[in-house]
Amino acid sequence: MKKTIFVANWKMNLTVSEAVNLVVRLKEGLGEIDSGKVEVVLCPSFTSLFSLHDLLQKDNPLNFRLGAQDVWREEKGAFTGEISPKMLEEVGCSYVIIGHSERRANLGETDEMVNQKVKAVSKHDLIPIICVGETFEERQKGLRDVIVSRQTGKALHGVELFGNKKIIIAYEPVWVIGTGQAVLPEDAGHSHRIIREALLEIFPVDVVEKHFKIIYGGSVDSKNIEDFIGQEMIDGVLVGGASLKVEEFVKMIKEIV
Ligand code: PEP
Repeated sequence: MKKTIFVANWKMNLTVSEAVNLVVRLKEGLGEIDSGKVEVVLCPSFTSLFSLHDLLQKDNPLNFRLGAQDVWREEKGAFTGEISPKMLEEVGCSYVIIGHSERRANLGETDEMVNQKVKAVSKHDLIPIICVGETFEERQKGLRDVIVSRQTGKALHGVELFGNKKIIIAYEPVWVIGTGQAVLPEDAGHSHRIIREALLEIFPVDVVEKHFKIIYGGSVDSKNIEDFIGQEMIDGVLVGGASLKVEEFVKMIKEIV
């Protein structure tokens, strides 16, 4: 059965106790939904990962998965303030967001850095969620397809795929993130087709089908979720703001299951 992916990006919000509390309330709110239909990935701050791992090890009926919001490109060494893929695995992460537009904009993260991180993660049991998407200015100049295609290609340059390794590409038009105004689902569907074409320029079709999922992010909520998931090529969503509101996030997931 096809599972719809819900990635909750909590960004730099919630202390450890607040994050634990949110997970407890999320479990209560979702009750006994069919967990076979959704893959819910919670991406808290680094500081909350261990406590959430501990909590979910004791009781995780809905099979929530943990993800980090970033990772460093090396295994270890003199990289003050950074976190390695192995450290993320140890605290129970199975996913990691790479190249979020907020990191690209605020921390100067480049396509090359994104690529190095994807390569580092590919040696581990971690699924990268690679964020791509155009800014408003780029969209105005008609560059959406070029940007999305280029970011996808560069992120995956030289990346080898073994076994059942999965990679998620998240199409996130930068200009709608956090605005409450998503793009039209058909618009997102178009970008997903462009991403798929970019993937097909690098990998054969069977590899693309087996290893890749493409999700949409940018002001998704309980009112528009069904329309996005209804698009043929949209395998799930990356949710920022709405994932911090328990009732709203529960409502979104229940719209799908
Ligand atoms: C995001 O954090 O990538 C995001 C999509 O946020 P929001 O849902 O708030 O637009």
